[in-house]
Amino acid sequence: MGGVCFSAIAQPSHKNPWIKADIGKLPPIASLTNGLWLKGDLHVHSRHSTESSNNPVGKIIAFSKSVGIDYICITDHDNHVNGDVAHHTWADPEFKSDDVLLLYGAEWTTVRGHGNVFSAKPYNHQSLYDVRDQRDTVIGRIKKGLGIHLSANHPSGKDHFGYSYDIINSLEVWNSVLWSKNAEAIMIWDDMLSSGRKLTGRGGSDAHHGIPETPDKATANSGQAKANYVGTPTTWVFATARTKQAVVDALTNGRVSVSANPYAPRVEFYADLDDNGKMDMMMGDNTKPTGKAVKFRVQLTGKTVSDTAYTVTVIKNGGKFNSFKTSGKIPAVEFTDIPAATGRTYYRVVVEGPGTPYPEVPQAMALTGNMVGLSNPIYFNFDPNF
Ligand SMILES: [Zn+2]
Ligand SMILES: [Zn+2]
Repeated sequence: MGGVCFSAIAQPSHKNPWIKADIGKLPPIASLTNGLWLKGDLHVHSRHSTESSNNPVGKIIAFSKSVGIDYICITDHDNHVNGDVAHHTWADPEFKSDDVLLLYGAEWTTVRGHGNVFSAKPYNHQSLYDVRDQRDTVIGRIKKGLGIHLSANHPSGKDHFGYSYDIINSLEVWNSVLWSKNAEAIMIWDDMLSSGRKLTGRGGSDAHHGIPETPDKATANSGQAKANYVGTPTTWVFATARTKQAVVDALTNGRVSVSANPYAPRVEFYADLDDNGKMDMMMGDNTKPTGKAVKFRVQLTGKTVSDTAYTVTVIKNGGKFNSFKTSGKIPAVEFTDIPAATGRTYYRVVVEGPGTPYPEVPQAMALTGNMVGLSNPIYFNFDPNF
């Protein structure tokens, strides 16, 4: 066989100049109590997407309100209106609500795949549409100037997000009611996290079709409305206020978890850094490791099934760390670990267990299977200036 002895060419004195020994002082962790949980759907198509059916804006908003959804982003395909979403979705007379926070956005629909924009206020979407075929450095500059949150949609498979992950703030790690189809999206998320990118994982139903008002309005796709609609899955954010800006800020900072539907329990993930029994940080937060053991707590809040076990799987740096069973009135798991004193570490959790009925979307529960929800990571030593 022969071959090269690689150890002979190793350079023990080599220092990678890109790896920082010290990332400097990190901003303080925000309050764990000064805020509220809001639930929503970040990927819905209305009649302004040409392939949708029976799904006017007013119907989406009324449905959202009826199932307790706090915020939505109607993300119509921008290429169906040549980028002019401002004069279509946002100008629709039905695009208004006193109850549901309506984010401004669209699905950036390009030859290189799809991404969603989320914004608290109107922005110049046309300029993002116009720049879509340019180099990523140019697109990144335009995106930054617009001050928007850009998110990679369904990152694997058809219409995957084919741009640099350096220009986005989040990824759609759970697209539609069909949880089992998201394994590659989760793999991509873990790769991005492991490489130092602090990117939020979020959900989106990608619903296109509503239930027809009368049987004669049914289309070949109308059946989808009973299986995949607003809230399958539901993205929870811990927002500092009930405002659109606070929702977008929470999406960016990662205080986010995703649940199977609006009635399914919410996954909350906390860490106690100094073993005083009081939680100091939650998912999305980033701090420096102290070298001491950290106590983590996973909690399911909401309508849980008390006589059935939930399985909590902990992922550390992209690999399985451990898995635990829990049940009870408020199912919770605590575990301890010592994050590395140098280098990055992240922990995130996936919860499986009994499904939660969603009567308004009656076929959803069976299609989601035993997937209950997932958290965003708790981060140690991630460089905010990456
Ligand atoms: Zn898409
Ligand atoms: Zn879509």
